[in-house]
Amino acid sequence: MKKFLNEFKEFALKGNVLDLAIGVIIGSAFTAIVTSLTDNFINPILNLVTGAHKGLYSWSEIAGFISSFISAVINFIIIAFVLFLILKGINALLNAKKKNTEEVVEITTKTCPYCKSEIDLEATRCPHCTSEIL
Ligand SMILES: [Zn+2]
Repeated sequence: MKKFLNEFKEFALKGNVLDLAIGVIIGSAFTAIVTSLTDNFINPILNLVTGAHKGLYSWSEIAGFISSFISAVINFIIIAFVLFLILKGINALLNAKKKNTEEVVEITTKTCPYCKSEIDLEATRCPHCTSEIL
């Protein structure tokens, strides 16, 4: 079960899956803006042209169209901002993980006290200046 969870975590944190999820969320949020644009700008104009709407639109109807469109845009901005924050958090986590593994790798070498070259941690003789290291 633990192995399964680890595999899932690895899968979910992979860039591709994140990108895909973000694409889907941004896509549906953007679709809402396009739908709102059609509902609140194009349809009223078409209704006027075709005569489906009797007479001109009142100011309160126009204000209603404008406010629905603005709220769709605000929704999109909020969703994008929240996604940005989530991505930032995940990236910070991934970077912290990377740094930790890098530190583990660094410990396998040490500096020769005579020539200051970087040598293997287990070395008893420096490969650069051939000094014996205790
Ligand atoms: Zn040396």
